[in-house]
Amino acid sequence: METQDKRDFAAGEVIFREGDAGDCAYIIDHGTVEVSIAQSDNTHYFKPLGKGEIFGEVALFDQKPRTATVRALTATRLTPVHRTQVIELLEQANPILRHFLFLILERFRENWQLQQKQTDTAAPQATPAPQRGEVTQKLTLVHDIKHALVKDEFMLHYQPICQMSTRRVAGYEALIRWNHPIDGFKLPGDFLWLTEHTGQIRDIGLWTLRRACFDWPLLRLATGCVYPFISVNLSPNQLISDHFVDNLQQIVEEFRIPPREIKLELTETGIINNPDQAYKLLSQLSELGVRLALDDFGTGYSGLQSLHRYPIATMKIDRAFVNTMLGSAQSREIVRSSIKLAHSLAMDVIAEGIETEDVYEELCQLQCDFGQGILFGAPAAMQAQATAW
Ligand code: C2E
Ligand code: CA
Ligand code: CA
Repeated sequence: METQDKRDFAAGEVIFREGDAGDCAYIIDHGTVEVSIAQSDNTHYFKPLGKGEIFGEVALFDQKPRTATVRALTATRLTPVHRTQVIELLEQANPILRHFLFLILERFRENWQLQQKQTDTAAPQATPAPQRGEVTQKLTLVHDIKHALVKDEFMLHYQPICQMSTRRVAGYEALIRWNHPIDGFKLPGDFLWLTEHTGQIRDIGLWTLRRACFDWPLLRLATGCVYPFISVNLSPNQLISDHFVDNLQQIVEEFRIPPREIKLELTETGIINNPDQAYKLLSQLSELGVRLALDDFGTGYSGLQSLHRYPIATMKIDRAFVNTMLGSAQSREIVRSSIKLAHSLAMDVIAEGIETEDVYEELCQLQCDFGQGILFGAPAAMQAQATAW
């Protein structure tokens, strides 16, 4: 996908004309535009469009000429949504939905031509306001994420993972954050789900890996255990990428990181959805020497029984069970039996979401190896980790 920049128009400037070839739609970041169509004896003007509204979307899909002329009424900034962006989303969409979309567009064009003929004699009517909301927001987000990588707006926060018996820092988990120029600080839950759908997560994942490896030599100095590690999350989409192992090897060599110090965290769903591909990739990673951790354990449906053939070194027990283990006998039993099972398979265990001393003590009783949670430290920028030490 090529990179597109925001586009600025001065008041009065034409954005596109009726009949122009069109290959993108626009979302109005700020400003106001006026849409008009030329009729045989006059020009028909529609209601002006403002911030957050979208226009030019028809030609985006069917590659036919623009049906109207659009001009900036005030100084206007636009986010272009290029056809290539939408085609990617369309290809992933349900084929029936795709068909309906093109049917609607065809009808729209037919009605538009008919309406033009009729309005040549009748009084002009305003078209309904364009659809705002979810779709527009998603398209803006896809665009902004692409730029965020180029403009270095992502950053990593690191959260300590401590050895339970000594409370010493054994490693850190890298957690992505986004310093959005307009919306401010964003957490992964605000945007990663979309990147998983669009495939952008692969580029983001590599960025994360590179940055974590770049930071690790300094961060390692703040650890206090014999086998320190840096944990990086691996998305299901990366698990089926052909180049991931090569990319990882390159990064590891570039930053001279001993592969055993890298721990890749992946979830059960990522493995279960593509079991054979996952097996191949995880075996290659294991041969390379990096360690693998099963994230959010307990939240999936398969259990460890169907996962024991994968070379997983660490089990991370989901915080939903850890948080509730003092109040719920069921949660406590899940935590207890998970630790036992993991140890019987020669895995070590990290409990996530430890917030209190009581939970910490209970987990020590259950012989949990490592812990992560706000009791030991919230995720924070690297500088904070280094100075804390
Ligand atoms: P996760 O892998 O389960 O990461 C742990 C999450 O728990 C983090 O949320 C962390 O801030 C939060 N947490 C840590 N300690 C505590 C605690 O004591 N109590 C509570 N309530 N929460 C705690 P965060 O940073 O919002 O990340 C959410 C998820 O986003 C992560 O869950 C991970 O699945 C994903 N993620 C984050 N960074 C990346 C990344 O670079 N790549 C990929 N693929 N996924 C990432
Ligand atoms: Ca994780
Ligand atoms: Ca987790």
